[in-house]
Amino acid sequence: MKPPPFGYHAPGTLGEALAALAAVPGGKVLAGGQSLIPLLNMRLAAPSDLVDINRVAELDTLHAGDEGVRVGALARHARVERSAEAAAVQPLLGQALRHVAHPVIRNRGTAVGSLAHADPAAELPAVLAVLGGTVEAASARGRRTIPAAEFFRGPLESALEPGELAVSAFFPAAPPRTGTAFTETARRHGDYALAGVAAVVTLDEDLRIHAARAGYLGVSATPLVLDLTEAAGPHGDWAAAAAHVRERIDPEPDIHAGAGYRRHLTGVLTERALNAAAAAAMRKAGD
Ligand code: FAD
Repeated sequence: MKPPPFGYHAPGTLGEALAALAAVPGGKVLAGGQSLIPLLNMRLAAPSDLVDINRVAELDTLHAGDEGVRVGALARHARVERSAEAAAVQPLLGQALRHVAHPVIRNRGTAVGSLAHADPAAELPAVLAVLGGTVEAASARGRRTIPAAEFFRGPLESALEPGELAVSAFFPAAPPRTGTAFTETARRHGDYALAGVAAVVTLDEDLRIHAARAGYLGVSATPLVLDLTEAAGPHGDWAAAAAHVRERIDPEPDIHAGAGYRRHLTGVLTERALNAAAAAAMRKAGD
């Protein structure tokens, strides 16, 4: 199928991109196009204009520092996935990105585009949410920082307003004695997952559980974050944490899986992810 007609803008700088977006209220940003182009071709979206940011070199950035990893709007999934610097600061990014679609899609799709797209089945929104990260938005009116807890509003709906461009996303660094893990189940390799879990476990100085958190995809309209510290207890009873999660979630059935199956699966994935994150935290503590 062919997309509906649209005006096309190819700015070369961020300032030009923001001016173009301000001039076309019905316009949309085109980043990697891995979600937007299929939506256009299926006529599920019909923006008046596309503002293609692929020539805006100043958005093609990836910076890993002590505080965390800042991913610019043009950093492709593959670049973030393969960055040893980013993995050293926040390993959950690479762990999750390996599950995003196929390599060709990761070569083109952008991490920030995935956040802006706000698909409840996507991996990165759950990662940003469980880490308590932020999105930096810019428009002709100025800049603002949006916490993950406020960024995801509903399926395919973010807090970005017309005329706003997400210029970067910030993923906070893992604190000391912290391990992370990501696991999901999809019907076929590379498909969107039926359910997935991003787990973060931090140990105290006596190697007991100090904090255990999990971010979920595929079980709610926006990424769900659960604090499982109390449910797991100081010695990490991950089966108890999984039972708690099964009680807390209320997944929707769809053509791929019923609600009961998703609930069961989410518990299984929770136990696995927390186990793996705790083992990684132990290794870190031993370093
Ligand atoms: P685009 O397609 O260019 O844009 C997507 C949306 O975000 C548009 O509404 C656009 O206007 C907006 N947008 C993009 N960038 C910005 C910005 N900087 N500021 C404001 N708005 C912006 N994703 C997963 O997470 N998991 C999967 O398993 C998965 N499987 C896939 C399988 C297939 C076959 C395909 C084609 C895609 C799949 N994807 C999956 C989607 C892929 O990860 C996309 O790359 C990603 O969702 C969007 O990134 P993009 O750069 O391609 O954005």
